[in-house]
Amino acid sequence: MTEGNTQHWQALGRRHHLPPFSDYKALNAKGSRIITRAEGVYLWDSAGNRILDGMAGLWCVNVGYGREELVQAAARQMRELPYYNLFFQTAHPPVLELAEAIAEIAPAGMTHVFFTGSGSESNDTVLRMVRHYWAVKGQPQKQVIIGRWNGYHGSTVAGASLGGMKAMHGQGGLPIPGIEHIDQPYWYGEGGDEDPEAFGVRMAEQLEQKILQVGVEKVAAFIAEPIQGAGGVIIPPDSYWPKIHEILARYDILFIADEVICGFGRTGEWFGSDYYGSAPDLMPIAKGLTSGYVPMGGVIVRDEVAAVLNEGGEFFHGFTYSGHPVAAAVALENLRILKREGIIDRVRTHTAPYLQRRWRELADHPLVGEARGLGMLGALELVKDKRTRTRFSGIELGMRCREHCLDNGLVMRAVGDTLIISPPLVISEAQIDELVSKARLCLDLTA
Ligand code: PLP
Repeated sequence: MTEGNTQHWQALGRRHHLPPFSDYKALNAKGSRIITRAEGVYLWDSAGNRILDGMAGLWCVNVGYGREELVQAAARQMRELPYYNLFFQTAHPPVLELAEAIAEIAPAGMTHVFFTGSGSESNDTVLRMVRHYWAVKGQPQKQVIIGRWNGYHGSTVAGASLGGMKAMHGQGGLPIPGIEHIDQPYWYGEGGDEDPEAFGVRMAEQLEQKILQVGVEKVAAFIAEPIQGAGGVIIPPDSYWPKIHEILARYDILFIADEVICGFGRTGEWFGSDYYGSAPDLMPIAKGLTSGYVPMGGVIVRDEVAAVLNEGGEFFHGFTYSGHPVAAAVALENLRILKREGIIDRVRTHTAPYLQRRWRELADHPLVGEARGLGMLGALELVKDKRTRTRFSGIELGMRCREHCLDNGLVMRAVGDTLIISPPLVISEAQIDELVSKARLCLDLTA
């Protein structure tokens, strides 16, 4: 049975389950929404309601739900070799074939991959990898990694420290030492009256100021998402990335592009770095790598960095599930689907332009200060006064709108008073129409 029994499951949750990123008090009063099955771009809850998944799970179900090819790939691999580790000089075919397949689609000169089990583990890995890299190069004092306020790089101690979510830092004594942050290029929220391109340059110049303040000889790397996802789909002004690249090249500092959300087609290119013409040294990946069917992450490494690591003796780092064979088999099949069905080309030429045109129509709604997006990402800024961009005070409007969405068959996520979407890449134009009209209905109900 897949539907019904809502109260039974909610009671189990209250008695036994501590879910991630949840306000336990509020949740226990209300009870979880129980999701029981999914197909294509739709979810069903335990009451039998059909819900359009405007978030692709958690930015990950790129090829959509219900892919029998992925089920078969997992089953075949479980029969053949369900598990073996990659420690102590062993390997297995699926992980090696996956590394080759990733090297084929990665930006030029990035043909090596270290596998992990998640995006957070990937960011723990880059932290250790860049510090080890500089130590092998004879510069062990290069330890500091610069991230951005409101960036998100996961929830492990290193991931949350590299990220700039102050609420996360407030629990558990983060960030750990050796991590600095600069401001984010969030023009709508923080740019005021400044011209967006001038604002983009000014935010990028903070990187140079931070490097000089810390001391060039101590800075190991800069980490950033090509487009900030969890921070609220923050798309930098066009001037931002070229200026950042210029500064990184001037000071010989490694660039870590966190592709956990942007990777595997979200911008209409394989990677967000392709979209922006960036040439990162390391790219943490996860999510769309397996379309979320099984957990897997990794770090794609530039060949020059890999060459140094290859000289460095043992890298004392890795996970029991690094490159898990079942996850690798699913990832390989997922990449084949993305290629075979031309999903990313279709996003670039059809679906993303259509989504972006329809999404921006919501800017005429009285609550919407800005409707922005890029590729298969979108955000709505909810404001009381469009001209001054003043927010509503004392009401969590974003959460209220999100609840209306769920009650009316749409998943949108609320980041404060910013509503965000990141639908499966296979969403059709008719389903985009459904998404936009449901979003408008829920804005009406929220107003
Ligand atoms: N990096 C980015 C950019 C993310 O958005 C996320 C998760 O949303 C992570 C890292 C962490 O990934 P995971 O939740 O798989 O650990």
